Amino acid sequence: MDTSAIVNSAEFTSEQKEYLQGFFAGVAQRGLAPFVGHTADGRITSDPNQAAESLWFNTPVEDLAREERWKHEQDPFSLWDKLLQYANRNEPPTDDDRFRIKYFGLFYVAPAQDSFMLRLRIPGGILFTHQLRGLAQMAEEWGSGRADLTTRSNLQIREFQPKDIVRVLNRLQSLGMTSRGAGADNIRNITASPTTGLDPQELLDVAPLADAMQAYISNSPDMYLLPRKFNIAFDNGGAISVVADTNDIGFIAVEVRGDQSVPAGVYFRVLLCGITGHRQFATDCGLLLRPDQTVAVAAAMVRVFTQHGDRTDRKEARLKYLVDQWGVEKFLSETEKLLAFPLIHVPASECEPRRPIDRAGHIGVHAQAQPGLYYIGVSVPVGQLPVSQMKALADIADRYGSGELRLTVWQNLLIPNISGEYLEAAREALVAAGLNYTASTVLSGTIACTGSQGCRFAASDTKTHAVALARQLDKNFPLLDQPINLHVTGCSHSCAQHYVGDVGLMGVKVGGEEGYQVLLGGGTDQQQGIARELIPAIKFSDLPPVMDRLFQAYIGKRNSDESFLDF
Ligand code: SF4
Repeated sequence: MDTSAIVNSAEFTSEQKEYLQGFFAGVAQRGLAPFVGHTADGRITSDPNQAAESLWFNTPVEDLAREERWKHEQDPFSLWDKLLQYANRNEPPTDDDRFRIKYFGLFYVAPAQDSFMLRLRIPGGILFTHQLRGLAQMAEEWGSGRADLTTRSNLQIREFQPKDIVRVLNRLQSLGMTSRGAGADNIRNITASPTTGLDPQELLDVAPLADAMQAYISNSPDMYLLPRKFNIAFDNGGAISVVADTNDIGFIAVEVRGDQSVPAGVYFRVLLCGITGHRQFATDCGLLLRPDQTVAVAAAMVRVFTQHGDRTDRKEARLKYLVDQWGVEKFLSETEKLLAFPLIHVPASECEPRRPIDRAGHIGVHAQAQPGLYYIGVSVPVGQLPVSQMKALADIADRYGSGELRLTVWQNLLIPNISGEYLEAAREALVAAGLNYTASTVLSGTIACTGSQGCRFAASDTKTHAVALARQLDKNFPLLDQPINLHVTGCSHSCAQHYVGDVGLMGVKVGGEEGYQVLLGGGTDQQQGIARELIPAIKFSDLPPVMDRLFQAYIGKRNSDESFLDF
């Protein structure tokens, strides 16, 4: 919109013109300048001279992938009026709006379900009881009557009708929460070690960094212009992992002793380009950062990715492909150009090795760093949490804890800050609510993506199958002495990261029936490994006896501390 044409219109008196000039200048200063188009590098502009209609991030519009064209044609966040329309008419969105509405964290999931799924943002997975109760109320009144915990320490609620989507977003805001940027080509929920600030073994509480990263994203419009999704994790160096090596950027706290090239202290190593669905872990890029540098470096890396990532082919649009093309050195040098401080390159060998990870430490009762306080890790089979249990957990966290809960990347949660004198009562309350904190080994380590219950890409009903298999294995092999992770994913998008499970299952159709590819030997962190295919395709109905035989062989032949990775 050319505001000068309005201001200079003959209809206005000179006082009115002066007022309008000031008004438009004020709007521009607040970053609300009327939308005219995009510059060649993707910024929104109100200046017709800058608008480059034929270019989007320096890519000719005719070469753009379909989703990029949709983003170029309309800024997804300018869709609020249309959201109101869809809600008023209770109508499903068009294909292009369906994609844009994901920017609000709302996924229209037809044909699996003729409704919207809401995905939140919960930095570090830290949630408060008033929020959990508010979400339970939304799920009960308008949604599916349950929440699903995700592998990014996050929550999803399904089955909202189009008529409810605006009040869902409004209610979320009233709970002090947001879903902005939870879907599509955005930085996903920022994860942090779930016991951060509680763990006696940790090097640094990383919750403030996850919060700072989220605040930076929320307040920087260009953090929503990425070519593809992006994952960031903060690891506190403690006993409980956040699987940082599966992220595009993983920050891992490490200790440096005084005799090295930098002063002694706690720093962060930076891992880059984890994308386990493409069978790649994030690897150390040679940087050592002070904690106060991490958010700035992440933002600079996102900006480099935004400006140079592929906009023509969705399959090649993740950070990995830019770094593969350029090499790490060029990527770091482009990053450094956007920073006000130099990047310090220090070999990982100059840092203390990461402290040991306790794979089972997120389930059960554990002492905190704070004397006399404990957390209880609660097993939530494949992350499905009915409203009744959401409310019960909020009550237990209020009565015996500090009103806080932590979500984990294993689709489980924990209640922190329980005084020793209340432990027994808290445990009894969990059992009374039908929740398990001493979960059997396989079920507590089982994760599953949405599957055919709510995702159009799924070949199989992952959640139902995962629970059935885990229960069978726990019944038949009750004496497993170490955690076994079963990752069940419905298709090659690998939302449940089947390549990093001890046992990974990926949904495939077998003769028209639901079935799985079976993989073995995946792991993360100190037991890192990409699972290898054992069976290319097997019907689910044939799978239970095969899993039994697999576990039988594993138990019979392994040495004391071997995992499926060594097998
Ligand atoms: Fe859907 Fe596939 Fe992701 Fe499962 S892995 S939620 S089936 S896209």
